[in-house]
Amino acid sequence: MMVASRNLRLCTKDCMCLFVCPTGATDTESGQIDASKCLDGCRLCVDACPGGAIYLVPRNYPKPQPKREDVVKALFALAESKVKTRALANGLGDDYPLARKALDFSLEVLAEDCVREGGYMLPQSVVTKEFLKDLRERYGDDPAFPVKAVERLLDLL
Ligand code: SF4
Ligand code: SF4
Repeated sequence: MMVASRNLRLCTKDCMCLFVCPTGATDTESGQIDASKCLDGCRLCVDACPGGAIYLVPRNYPKPQPKREDVVKALFALAESKVKTRALANGLGDDYPLARKALDFSLEVLAEDCVREGGYMLPQSVVTKEFLKDLRERYGDDPAFPVKAVERLLDLL
């Protein structure tokens, strides 16, 4: 069971999808396709869109495969080492601003990848909440830990 989805960044608003959709699912105030009206991916809009802005996605995604405990542990050890390296990079002070910025960015991306691969990709997933709570418990007293941001995320999720 599929449903059409529109990437607003690619949409050039020429409205071909509005002409071809038999149910009016593409004509919404928000710019998002109305999934309740979409006919399980008839794909008329997909084929009509000149910008490739519409694609079909499954209505229900399969459950992600659980990762082995040792893999998750290794990913988190790697992420933790990146956090430590970042703290060291911060110690470089203002003498090497570009090097520090590049290092900061690459470490951030890597740590983020590790965490995501560890199974914490979807913000709404239960494991993400557990992860944030665990971080707050472990590092909450560290002045460098963004405790307010974590609490705000926990409220929002
Ligand atoms: S056909 Fe494609 S580009 Fe045109 S309005 Fe629809 S989504 Fe946007
Ligand atoms: S897949 Fe078909 S029913 Fe669904 S929005 Fe596109 S044209 Fe409309």
